[in-house]
Amino acid sequence: MNVDPEGLVKFLKRDIAYAESHKRTGGPSYVLVLGCSTGYGLASRIVSAFSYGAATVGVSFERKPSEGKQGTPGFYNNEAFEAEAKKRNISAVTFEGDAFSLAVKNTVIAEAKRAGKKFDLVIYSLATAVRTDERTGESYRSVLKPLHAPYSAKSLDFITGEVKPVTIEPATEEEARATVKVMGGEDWMDWMKSLAEAGVLAEGVTTLAYSYIGPAVTYPIYREGTIGKAKEHLENSAATITNALSNIHGRAYVSVNKALVTRASAVIPVVPLYISILFKVMKQRGTHEGCIEQMERLFSERLYTGGPVPVDEDGRIRIDDREMQSDVQEEVSRLMEHATTENIASIADLEGYRRDFLALHGFESL
Ligand code: NAD
Repeated sequence: MNVDPEGLVKFLKRDIAYAESHKRTGGPSYVLVLGCSTGYGLASRIVSAFSYGAATVGVSFERKPSEGKQGTPGFYNNEAFEAEAKKRNISAVTFEGDAFSLAVKNTVIAEAKRAGKKFDLVIYSLATAVRTDERTGESYRSVLKPLHAPYSAKSLDFITGEVKPVTIEPATEEEARATVKVMGGEDWMDWMKSLAEAGVLAEGVTTLAYSYIGPAVTYPIYREGTIGKAKEHLENSAATITNALSNIHGRAYVSVNKALVTRASAVIPVVPLYISILFKVMKQRGTHEGCIEQMERLFSERLYTGGPVPVDEDGRIRIDDREMQSDVQEEVSRLMEHATTENIASIADLEGYRRDFLALHGFESL
């Protein structure tokens, strides 16, 4: 898909304006965002810099424009983020590269040392399908599949508006293992170990990774599927990291965020149907949020309240609370059951879904 760089700048400025209308003190001062260019990582970086005035270092894997070929959206987002930060004298340094690699870890460490600063917040927000483990030279590819049995459900083609059944065959054991390698917590643990050993983590550092739970209807493909296994590993890694950081009183958390239209979620079967109905229901109730509102609330109402961080019984931060309200879930599941190609435009926020998807590329409409 093409990209409208000017549109991306416009949307970024809108998010910055939102963050600046929620300026706060008592937050982080030097923040590392891994996966900083789009989605939840970008929104976390915007809140860090423009609500709390933090200096940020960002890492992402985006393509620069070259020989008549446009760059990827995140490239333009990074450029605009740096320009807006500079205008306000807020330090922002971005590295393009493979966050899984040792070279990128060393580059970030060298940057912190050059700046003479220690990270007090590290956000791990990578979403990708591929990882090469340099220690073994092996490459892994993640898949979005159920485990053990095929999964059949209704799915929405949000471009054509067609609602049709899909069946997805279960993953092989190899695919399930590969998905945990790519989207689990191993690399998050590697990052925190490298940063700690290099002495670039501040006393009391917080580190965060993002997860998703969602409704029972998506469990076979999400929470109980290959990606769910990876998220379970990520969530368990938080405890391991907190233990490893005990000498500097560091804490690792997984925050469970709301389902949103991002590059990652658009490709998960069934999820566009669920999200477009969820948006309709939440907008009717006035509780809908986008990435920036979610991250602003995560920082101001969970992480930096001045008191302990509220967590669920499994130690996770829940900022998906409004999505998971029982009345919202009941209404969404009732509508999903009755969704057809004929009624989808009236029972779901198809327009809102499309608008958010186009906005990822900088477009308002086609
Ligand atoms: P996204 O695709 O918008 O962003 C992914 C980021 O990772 C981008 O900045 C990209 O450049 C970067 N990246 C990918 N591979 C990389 C690599 N090898 N090296 C460096 N950077 C790399 O994704 P998102 O939806 O914001 O997801 C971020 C996290 O939030 C994921 O853990 C996801 O599971 C979680 N989450 C997403 C949703 C949702 O609905 N989208 C909901 C809850 C939680």
